[in-house]
Amino acid sequence: MSDMTIVAKLLDDFGDNWHWVILHDVEPRSEQQFWASHIDTACGVILDEGGSVAELVDTGAPAEPDCPLCLSGVSPSGNAAVQVAEEIMEEAQHAPIS
Ligand SMILES: [Zn+2]
Repeated sequence: MSDMTIVAKLLDDFGDNWHWVILHDVEPRSEQQFWASHIDTACGVILDEGGSVAELVDTGAPAEPDCPLCLSGVSPSGNAAVQVAEEIMEEAQHAPIS
């Protein structure tokens, strides 16, 4: 189970901002449909809890969101940095004490 991060608009009436939308524990159902345990944005908007299928449509999303909170907060690269840090900590614990 892994997370998938996409650039998407929340709703048509949610302003014009694109957000990092994170599909947690994502499982593909078809080419465009993905089940996720919950869906939220990097800036903290919860879109769905309790498991749902999201259908991805090509909305002409840009490569990066224009939501300032998403851009300044957690991003996929930020998550990657955290993962690297955790791996380093694990290795440090296994390393012999000199
Ligand atoms: Zn956002």
